[in-house]
Amino acid sequence: MATKPPVDRNLFDEVMVPNYAPAKMIPVKGEGSRVWDQDGKEYIDFAGGIAVSALGHTHPALVAALTEQAQKIWHLSNVLTNEPALRLANLLVAHTFADKVFFANSGAEVNEAAFKLARKYAYDKVGAEKNEIISFYNSFHGRTLFTVSVGGQPKYTEGYAPVPGGIKHATFNDLASAEALFSEKTCAVVVEPIQGEGGVIAGDPEFLKGLRRLCDQHDALLVFDEIQSGVGRSGALYAYMQAGVVPDILTSAKSLGGGFPIGAMLTTAKIAESFGVGSHGSTYGGNPLACRVAEALLEELFNSKVMDNVPTKSARIKQGLAAINERYDLFKEIRGAGLLIGAEMAEPYRGRASEIVAQAAQLGLMILVAGPNVLRFAPSLIISDKDIDEGLVLLDRAVQQFSAAGR
Ligand SMILES: *Cc1c(COP(=O)(O)O)cnc(C)c1O
Repeated sequence: MATKPPVDRNLFDEVMVPNYAPAKMIPVKGEGSRVWDQDGKEYIDFAGGIAVSALGHTHPALVAALTEQAQKIWHLSNVLTNEPALRLANLLVAHTFADKVFFANSGAEVNEAAFKLARKYAYDKVGAEKNEIISFYNSFHGRTLFTVSVGGQPKYTEGYAPVPGGIKHATFNDLASAEALFSEKTCAVVVEPIQGEGGVIAGDPEFLKGLRRLCDQHDALLVFDEIQSGVGRSGALYAYMQAGVVPDILTSAKSLGGGFPIGAMLTTAKIAESFGVGSHGSTYGGNPLACRVAEALLEELFNSKVMDNVPTKSARIKQGLAAINERYDLFKEIRGAGLLIGAEMAEPYRGRASEIVAQAAQLGLMILVAGPNVLRFAPSLIISDKDIDEGLVLLDRAVQQFSAAGR
């Protein structure tokens, strides 16, 4: 029998593929916006598991939904349907533009489905030559070979050639640069209404409206990747509702499961027809446990004031960041929508955002980066004012230490 080594960070280096570089501490428990590590050290969570834990950790409604479903049935495959999946799809249809839903287990998988559907729809309607996808530099759409190729960050495709073709990239928030790439071969435009990984940059409503118009003119589908911006994070259920632009396909994941893996692709009845029986699928997609948790999360969003409170909490964090900036003059810009907030480092500190993340973690605050220059905050949508204020005090201290050591 194998001996059991201590379960610590060293074990990661021994037994895990080195594609991640996780922090030294290992969290073992979470409640609301607080997390505790193996040594019992407490952290305030401004990261939300990268915009996932929309209702914080171990929310009673989600724990109840998961444990209740765990006693009933876990898995059926798509040879059968299940009640939680049907109820969840019905909820999503009732509250969005969509008529139809496809479930998978992650963001990349629902984007993969969306891009395949866009091509298939154009193939059915026009022919094989209408296959080009336009997306944007600095966008992020997942790590499968297709989604990483549609994503606009060349470093993520390096070494993985040959990659899928028929993909062109324009400049985000620059409508003319997108317009220049359109042709009768364009089948879809894929855009994050708020770029997340690319630095927390909101799409200008006029830009998004312009993409809608260009798609209509060229008989192309508009795909909104709302995997990071969706499920209440912007203050609306989906950011498209605030932009006043309705996409043809929308992808949702991250916060949808509040920490349980699930993704959903939403579309219209007409477009959905191109995914006929056997055209696409997933073994775990629509899993009863995942769907039951997502259903409980959406019910919590709809039945309580969760989304109404997002603007106030957002303002509280942004004001705190502005006050820190007055003291240390560290940020060039504080931006974002709702509880997806970015603080871009000023010129002298370019590329050093991750140093502040490390400093904050030492003091008991979990925050994120979005690229090398931007600090990112994506806390629970129900984080308390007390947790926000305490977190900001810790951030102030982290920035102070960074300033004292690094200038
Ligand atoms: C995180 C993210 C993805 C990928 O989701 P995974 O669940 O990691 O596959 C895709 N698009 C956007 C906008 C994201 O933020």
